[in-house]
Amino acid sequence: MKKVLLVKYAEIGLKGKNRKEFEDVLVSNIKRFTGWNVSWRWGRILVNIDWENEDISKISKIFGVQNFSKAFVVNLDMKEIERAAVEVSRSEIESGKETFKVKAKRSQKSFEYGVYDINRVVGARILQEFPRLRVDVHNPEFVVNVEVKESEAYVYANKLRGPGGLPVGTGGKAVLLLSGGIDSPVAGWYAMKRGVVISALSFISPPYTGKETKEKLISLARGLKEFSGGRNIHLYLCPLTPVLEFLKDNAPSRYLLILQRRSMMRIAEKLAKKIKASAIYTGESVGQVASQTLENMAAIEDATSLPVIRPLSGMDKVEIVEKSKDIGTYEISIQPQIDVCSMFVPKNPVTKAKLSFVKEIEAEISEKLTKLEEESFAMMEKVIV
Ligand code: ATP
Ligand code: MG
Repeated sequence: MKKVLLVKYAEIGLKGKNRKEFEDVLVSNIKRFTGWNVSWRWGRILVNIDWENEDISKISKIFGVQNFSKAFVVNLDMKEIERAAVEVSRSEIESGKETFKVKAKRSQKSFEYGVYDINRVVGARILQEFPRLRVDVHNPEFVVNVEVKESEAYVYANKLRGPGGLPVGTGGKAVLLLSGGIDSPVAGWYAMKRGVVISALSFISPPYTGKETKEKLISLARGLKEFSGGRNIHLYLCPLTPVLEFLKDNAPSRYLLILQRRSMMRIAEKLAKKIKASAIYTGESVGQVASQTLENMAAIEDATSLPVIRPLSGMDKVEIVEKSKDIGTYEISIQPQIDVCSMFVPKNPVTKAKLSFVKEIEAEISEKLTKLEEESFAMMEKVIV
């Protein structure tokens, strides 16, 4: 009788070639992130660890895992199955449960017992061991699952919930615009939840921002790395000061924010091309602040031909804060920092930017602006986190 974690993933919509890729990536993400020995048998992912003495919460950071169970692997032998079922029940009883049922599944037809027999024999054995337990087939407090496979069986009770989503690495690659705030790290988490590998791009403005800002951004990237299936996160730090100063001196102040963000989008697109990423993610949420109106988003997004994805667009600030606490980036985000853009922007930015006007302004300054953006891009520094 051996302990394993039995990992299950959602199978909806996974067919043919996709399914194989999904499984391979999921297995290698678990291996890379946890360092555990993982095998794939009979359509199940088995993590070969002693769950009593390991930190199994790691598995709940692997996207693609629907649920997982502390299980026993036993030989195809009824006595062994019974023994495992008794062990599984013991720990349930310790947490105060009083009713149960046995639920057998059998994909191996040559095993001498059918599903009905397994339920009956194993149930009787559990009752013999724990006479105060009762069987309740309709609404049991715990279920003892017995899965009979080709050459072994798995016995387990609880299913613990995984994070769901798709394994990071199955959804392509994107650039995450990572500020030091609360929102954009959460947006990065949602990107990874859908299987997307992210590279982070942060605009800094030396000498106004210094070492602390860089360190904060690195900490945030490190926080996100917890969910990347063990992959490194590439963080690009791009100094934007000359662009910001030039805009400040050459554009109407109410439009500065929009123009800055458009420069960011163009630089992000350049980076995306270089690293073969196919979308840009931001932490914007519709209406959260005056600058995040639909009109302004449209005026900003116009600067790039890549899809701009805003996973937080439908979330309230309260929900975003809760999520950032859950995923562990909140404490980093709330550390004080100098906000790159607001330093250069008046308090009353336009809330309904007119795209035609934005384009007119840019047309007048485009030569110099393009040059400064290129210089910023060239000075970008890459940190592997
Ligand atoms: P956040 O909490 O993510 O900072 P926010 O509520 O402060 O967001 P804004 O400052 O309007 O909102 O920024 C909107 C989005 O633009 C951010 O979520 C981020 O994706 C991007 N962004 C803003 N500033 C920067 C920056 N300095 N570097 C990279 N991306 C940025
Ligand atoms: Mg911000």
